[in-house]
Amino acid sequence: MRIDLHTHSLASDGTQTPSELVTAAQHAGLDVVAITDHDSANGWEEAADAARRVGIELVRGMEISTNHRGRGVHLLAYLPDPTHPTLAASLARIVDGRGSRAPAMVEALQRIGIDLTLDDIAAPVPGRPHVADALVRKGIVASRDDAFERYLNPGRPGYVDRYAADLTATIVAVTEAGGASVIAHPWGRGRRHDLPHGELAALRDAGLSGLEVDHQDHKAPDVREELRAIARDLDLVVTGSSDHHGLGKSNHGLGCNTTAPEEYERLLERAASASAATGRRTPEVVRG
Ligand code: AMP
Ligand code: FE
Ligand code: FE
Ligand code: ZN
Repeated sequence: MRIDLHTHSLASDGTQTPSELVTAAQHAGLDVVAITDHDSANGWEEAADAARRVGIELVRGMEISTNHRGRGVHLLAYLPDPTHPTLAASLARIVDGRGSRAPAMVEALQRIGIDLTLDDIAAPVPGRPHVADALVRKGIVASRDDAFERYLNPGRPGYVDRYAADLTATIVAVTEAGGASVIAHPWGRGRRHDLPHGELAALRDAGLSGLEVDHQDHKAPDVREELRAIARDLDLVVTGSSDHHGLGKSNHGLGCNTTAPEEYERLLERAASASAATGRRTPEVVRG
């Protein structure tokens, strides 16, 4: 069983339609794939149709932009009801913040002499990756990564802050919406010291279900082994995923990291018990 629980489509900053993504997952030899666009369930139904067509198991999920003690944390939410009022309001506010930030980023870049307009950015909800892609198309930078390093990371001239939901409150909201939550790449990109054992224990107590341990941003093997030990100690589910973004990120091919079947089953059990507690109709896994 090959299980990949973190991928993006054109519903956020991937480069494939949800249907292309699911088809590619099947071609990559995956048995289970989760679609987890940033702050959006917009790709879910197209992905579900494709999963039924090509015969692959599909988990509806999303990656929520949260804030914990002033730092950004990405929270994967699996099988939540996206229409739950608290969760829906939170997602709307995040998407709104990202949308209204795009003009400010363009202005900031224009101020340092970069020839870029809002029309150059083609995306329903333009985030930093879409600004990066526009800079690549205009030949101003070589790649998305280059654009982040030179212009879009915090501290760089094109960076503009945006709203993110409180991490602990979002974990609670996901549980109330009948889903299970997993922190994405918790120790990636130099963030090892933001989420130590004690913080993760408190988040577990708030309802967190798991940690994404096997991820390309966890480069040193000891990072993964230390996180895995913490997950075991705290009885958190351990996941592994590609964080595939189509052509948007290299070295994140579908299935490059995978989740063990018994961990996947535990994650589904967490979602099922959260779901049972809500009395609402929550999404189900598509058994393709
Ligand atoms: P936003 O939420 O609009 O600020 O965009 C954040 C997204 O940009 C993340 O979810 C990643 O997909 C992408 N991203 C962040 N940092 C980098 C980076 N250094 N290189 C490439 N993509 C990045
Ligand atoms: Fe992304
Ligand atoms: Fe992420
Ligand atoms: Zn992601």
